Amino acid sequence: MTDAYPHRAVAIIGGGPAGLMLALSLQQRGCRDLAIIEPGLSKAQRLAESIPPPTAQTLGEWGVDLSQGGHLPCYGTVSEWGSPIQGYNDYLAQPGGLGYWVDRTDLETQLKQRYLEQGGNWLDASVESGQHHDRTVNALQIRSAHGLSNLTADLVVDASGSGVLLNQLGVAQNRIDGLIYHYQLYHRPDDLPQMGHIQACDRGWWYCAPVSEQQILVAFVTDKQHRLKPTATLPPMPLLKRTLQPCTELRSRQADLAIRSAVVGPNWLAVGDAACRFDPINAAGISKAIATGHAGAEAIMAWRARPRANALRAYQQAIFADFTHHVNLRQQLYHQIARIHPTPFWQRRCQPE
Ligand SMILES: Cc1cc2nc3c(=O)[nH]c(=O)nc-3n(C[C@H](O)[C@H](O)[C@H](O)COP(=O)(O)OP(=O)(O)OC[C@H]3O[C@@H](n4cnc5c(N)ncnc54)[C@H](O)[C@@H]3O)c2cc1C
Repeated sequence: MTDAYPHRAVAIIGGGPAGLMLALSLQQRGCRDLAIIEPGLSKAQRLAESIPPPTAQTLGEWGVDLSQGGHLPCYGTVSEWGSPIQGYNDYLAQPGGLGYWVDRTDLETQLKQRYLEQGGNWLDASVESGQHHDRTVNALQIRSAHGLSNLTADLVVDASGSGVLLNQLGVAQNRIDGLIYHYQLYHRPDDLPQMGHIQACDRGWWYCAPVSEQQILVAFVTDKQHRLKPTATLPPMPLLKRTLQPCTELRSRQADLAIRSAVVGPNWLAVGDAACRFDPINAAGISKAIATGHAGAEAIMAWRARPRANALRAYQQAIFADFTHHVNLRQQLYHQIARIHPTPFWQRRCQPE
């Protein structure tokens, strides 16, 4: 074990959207003794993750320039969704501005830059474990290129997506649904509008969106049990009415709807996916990560002012309430689609949780 890192007011595990937004929000509120521990900015292949206009606006207010880098403007969606009639959600016809398909590396680089400009500490390292007693975190063990070191902090934030600290603390993950996202990249046809395409079918739903000027992603989202062979290719997405030329093999990502049984403890809290994961049907993950980052920062400031107060518990209640709201809305959505597709995939998801 090498020397310990300096003690910090707040240590943040993970520099994704949730961890970075929490850090920026803390800095804005005057809390600057922070460390983000993040092993690297290299993200898995792009998933054509979209953000709606209000989230794009929020990011703009934080100095993120979405017109730069690899982000692509999204003019809305074309869908066949709970009705055999095609629907259009045209952002250009609304006052809220454009949505975007974000380039995660560019987004996180811009947010990191702002954080560093304001004196934030960044450790190119990964949290391996946490020493804890009675649910209080005493120290984090951190692996960097220089070896293993300890870091202590008044409060630790789990923004690691997978919940590395919560797993250590034995906090249960309540999985409500398990979906699998089978996807493939294709050469982008010239005449495809700069809009997302979504379509419900009997066994799940389709999604198509550009990932660059040259490539589009087509995904088929279905039950976790419905595995496809890696050598398979996706059948054509019916709404696109064409066969596309693939440029990658088929890949798969799990996309669970889940929430932790606790998202706060005596001196820790969880934000973003580490706290709860949303159904990709709503494309809400990045927006929620940003929102929980802000809410988490507010709770930490209240906790720092009066550590015995219920500030962290109020944050937990808000997270639980928001998740319940999402689950109820999702159930209504699935109900609507089950009328057109009365199949087990949709009907099972209409039952109250
Ligand atoms: C298939 C799929 C499609 C999706 N589509 C959309 C979409 O269209 N729109 C949308 O808004 N959302 C979408 N999402 C959800 C979105 O990707 C997540 O909600 C979002 O990334 C959560 O942000 P986060 O900061 O909480 O976690 P992450 O983005 O996972 O960031 C966590 C960070 O922690 C770091 N980390 C991990 N382990 C450690 C460790 N041990 N030590 C230190 N650091 C660590 C990681 O390197 C990473 O940088 C989709 C998700 C999936 C799976």
